[in-house]
This record gives sequence, C-alpha cells and structure tokens, in this order.
Amino acid sequence: MRIDLHTHTRASDGTQTSEELVRAAKAAGLDVLGLTDHDTAEAWGPAARTAQEVGIALVRGMEISTRHLGRGVHLLAYLPDPTYAPLVAHLRKILDGRSSRVPAIVERLQGVGIEIDTADVRRAAGGTAATGRPHIADALVALGVVPDRTTAFREYLNPGRPAYVNRYAAPLVESMRVVDEAGGVTVLAHPWGRHGADSLPVDAIAELAGLGLAGLEVDHQDHRPEDRQRLREIAESLSLVVTGSSDHHGLGKHDHELGCNTTAPDQYERLLDLAAAASARSGRDTPEVIG
Ligand code: AMP
Ligand code: FE
Ligand code: FE
Ligand code: ZN
Repeated sequence: MRIDLHTHTRASDGTQTSEELVRAAKAAGLDVLGLTDHDTAEAWGPAARTAQEVGIALVRGMEISTRHLGRGVHLLAYLPDPTYAPLVAHLRKILDGRSSRVPAIVERLQGVGIEIDTADVRRAAGGTAATGRPHIADALVALGVVPDRTTAFREYLNPGRPAYVNRYAAPLVESMRVVDEAGGVTVLAHPWGRHGADSLPVDAIAELAGLGLAGLEVDHQDHRPEDRQRLREIAESLSLVVTGSSDHHGLGKHDHELGCNTTAPDQYERLLDLAAAASARSGRDTPEVIG
C-alpha cells in the first residue's frame, strides 16, 4: 500500500487540474491519494469522479492557513463536511485575506520598477479561489522577470524581500475546533518545516494533542532526518498518528514528486478510525474515502 496524504491542484497553487493529479497519482503507483488544496474544497468533485474512474482511493481534505504563537502553521483537515456553515465562513475569511493581498503585492512590485498588474496575476491564477504568492510568481515568470517560482520567492516574495506582504491566517485552535465540529480530523502539516524545532515547541504540540489534534506530518521534504526522528518520538509519546506525504504541487515545487514520502498503512487506518469517530460525534454528513 502506497499512501500519499498531501497534494495540491490548480484549485490552489498546484499546476495540475484535479483530473491530471488523480491520473498522475495512479500512474505513480499510489493506492491512496490525499487531496489537500490550500483553504478550499473546490477540487473535491472532479477529483472524486476521476478517482472512481481510474480506481484509486481518494481522501478529501484541505490545508488551512492558520497562526499559532506568532507563527504560520499549516493545518491539514481530512474528511470534514465541506458544507458546514462555520467551516465555509472560516475558509471564506482566509480566502478574502488572500485576494485582498494581491493588489498590495502588485503595488510593491510596481514600486521596484516591475511592470505588472492584477490582471497578470488573475491570468496566472486561472480562476482559483486560493490566489497566492505562487500565482504572482507565475505571473512574474510569464512576464519574463524571473525564470521560475523559486527565484520569484527568493528575489521578491519571501519575508524580507521587497514585495512581501502578510495576510490573514485563522487562529489554529479555532481552526481545529471548526474542523472537529464539521466531523473531520486534523494533522499538522510539516510542523518543523520552516525553522526546525523552533517552529513549534514540543510543549505546544503536546497542548494541541490534548485539544484533539489527530496527527503530525513527520515525513516531509522540508524536514531534516534528525527532525523526522525527533518528531516520530514526539508523536509516539503523545499517541499522535504519524503521516508522510509529498506535498506535491505539480511543476510548482521541485523535489516534491508524488509518493516521495508515504504514510504507513497502520497509521492511515488509525487516522480513518479517528475520522469515523469525529464524524459520528458531529452528527454531520461527512465525505467517505472514495474507492
Ligand atoms: P501564500 O499561501 O500565498 O502565502 O504562499 C505560500 C505558498 O507558496 C506555500 O504554500 C508554498 O506552496 C508556496 N511556496 C513557498 N515558497 C516557495 C518556493 N520557494 N517555490 C515555490 N513555491 C513556494
Ligand atoms: Fe502551496
Ligand atoms: Fe504547507
Ligand atoms: Zn501543502
């Protein structure tokens, strides 16, 4: 069983349509695919249809942009009822923060002499609800300003660079509560990806475990081997599920090929058990794993 629980489509900042992603996952020999676009469930429908057609298990989820202890934290949410009104409102607020940031970044870019406008970004974003810096990077590539996304982030879009603008992210604990009420389960995405163990202290992870967090994404390309080892021990001591995933973005991120990290079948089963329990508690009509 090859299980990859974290991937993106064009509904956020991946470069593949949901059909292309699901077919690519099948071709890569995956048995289970987790679909986790940033802050939106938009790709769920078409992805589910393609998963039925090609015969691959699909776990519908999302990666919510949150904040905790002054830092950005990405929260993976699996199998919540996407029609639960407080969840819809929660995501709406984050998506509004994304859209309102675009003109501010464009203005900064114009300020350093780049001829770009919001229409260039809209074109690059191709109608996604979750417009982000990757799409601004794509617009800069299309305009010939930089050769690729990585350079765009390094030169202009990262914190400390001339066009960096912050955006709204939802409080982490509140996000966990909304997902739980919607009958889904939560896993911290790449918890030590940005600053190693300084990203999120162990006692903070323990506190989140006490508040119902289901798991930690341990095997991720942004984690060094020693951090993976330590996170595995922490997960074990807190009885958290350990996941591993590619965080695939199509051509949008190098070295994140489908299946480059995977989740062990017993950990996947535990996650599904916790999701079933959350679903029952919520009394809501939550999505099943397809296939
Ligand atoms: P945003 O959500 O608009 O703040 O943009 C953050 C997203 O940009 C992350 O979720 C990554 O997918 C992507 N990203 C961050 N750094 C890079 C990079 N150097 N190259 C390509 N994509 C990146
Ligand atoms: Fe992304
Ligand atoms: Fe992430
Ligand atoms: Zn991701």
